[in-house]
Amino acid sequence: MKVTDIRPFSEPLVGKVLSKPFFQDAINYGGDLVQWTFTEIRTDEAITGITPYAIAPDMLSLLKPAVLGEDPVNIQKIWDKMYWRSFNQGRKGAAIIAMSQIDIGLWDIIGKKLKTPVYKLLGGYRDRVPGYGSGGVLSLSNEQLVKEQMNWVEEGFKAVKMKVGRRDWREDIERIKAVREAVGNNVDLMVDANNGWSTSTAVRMAKRFEPYDVRWLEEPVVAEDYDGYTRVAASTDIPIAGGESEYTKFGFKELFLRRCIEICQADIGKVGGITEYMKVAGMAEAFNIPMCPHGIGLVSAHCVASTPNGTIVEFFDGNRYPNTTIRKFQEETGRWFMPHSIRPVKGWIDLPTVPGLGLDPDLEAIEEYRKKYKFKVEELEGRDTRSPFNNNMFLSL
Ligand SMILES: [Mg+2]
Repeated sequence: MKVTDIRPFSEPLVGKVLSKPFFQDAINYGGDLVQWTFTEIRTDEAITGITPYAIAPDMLSLLKPAVLGEDPVNIQKIWDKMYWRSFNQGRKGAAIIAMSQIDIGLWDIIGKKLKTPVYKLLGGYRDRVPGYGSGGVLSLSNEQLVKEQMNWVEEGFKAVKMKVGRRDWREDIERIKAVREAVGNNVDLMVDANNGWSTSTAVRMAKRFEPYDVRWLEEPVVAEDYDGYTRVAASTDIPIAGGESEYTKFGFKELFLRRCIEICQADIGKVGGITEYMKVAGMAEAFNIPMCPHGIGLVSAHCVASTPNGTIVEFFDGNRYPNTTIRKFQEETGRWFMPHSIRPVKGWIDLPTVPGLGLDPDLEAIEEYRKKYKFKVEELEGRDTRSPFNNNMFLSL
C-alpha cells in the first residue's frame, strides 16, 4: 500500500471570526474563530485515512514529499522523514502540528488495513476510559460556572475542570469555592491557568487553592519556563499538570527531568501525533507520571486506552457555551463524525470497535451545513488578552 495524496476534504469550513470574543476563554485566549474541517490521506488501495484537522497549506506542501509513495505501515520511517525534512522550520510549532495531524491519519489507515481499532494496535490496555468535563471559562458568571460544572456531574462525570485567572484573583477563590461546594467532595476538581501567571503569582495562587482539594493545577506559567514550573511544583501539594503546549519527546524530556509536572497532558495533535505520543507516554511511565492528554476526545481515548499510565480523557462540549451562534455551529459540526464518534455515558467512553480510529465524517451532514450556513470572516476587534507580566500581580491592571 502506498500513500497517493494528502488533501483537505474540501475547502476549510470557516465559521465566523466574531467582532468580539464570544467568551473570555482563559487568561491568554479569547474564543473568536470557529473553524473546523478535516484532512484525508488517500492510498492506492480503497482505504482513506481521516485526521480531524485542517493542515496549514504551507506545512502540508513542506511535508507531503516525505509521505507520498510510502507505505503507511512504515510509520516510524515516515515520522523521521517528516521531522528531518522540516528540521529548519520545525522542531516545535506549526511543522510538528502538521506532522501530528498526518501521523494521526496514517494510524487510521493502518487500523483500517489491519481491520483493528487503533487502541488495540497500540497495546489495548483497556476497552473503556473515563472522561472529565472541561470548561468553566473565565467569562461565565459564577452562577453560569456552577451550573455548567454541575451539568457534567449530573451527567455522571466524576471530574470537572474550570479556568482560573480572573483579573481580580479573589474572584478565582470565590469561584473555586462555589464549584467545590456545588459538586461536593466526591468529584475531582481541576483548574487551568493556561500559561497565564508569573512564577511567584502561580506559587501564591496554588497556596490559596490548597484548601479546596484541587486535583491539579494546569499550565500555571508559560510553557517554556521550565525553572518556573519546577519552583511552582515544589511549592505546593497540588499536583502540577502541563504539556498541552509542548512538542515532541525532546520537549517532554525537559518537563520530566526537571520535575516540572506530575501529570502529563501531551496533545496528540501537537506533540507529534500518535507515534510520538506513545514515546512520551513510555517516558512518562518511567517517571511515574500519568497521561491525561489534552483535547481531541476520540484520538485521545485511543491513546489513553492503550497504555498502563493512560488515565483520563478531556471532554469539551461547545453546546454549553451561552451563545446561540456558536451553539448552533457546534450542534451542526458535531454531527460530522457520526456514527462512531464518542459520547461519554455516565462519564465513561467505550472505545469504538471499528477498524482505525472510527472517525467517519457524515458527508450528508456536511453538505447540509454548507447550504444552511454561510458564515463570513469579519475583522477581529477588542481581543482581551493578557500576559504573565501583568496578570494577577496588581489589582489595578
Ligand atoms: Mg489546558
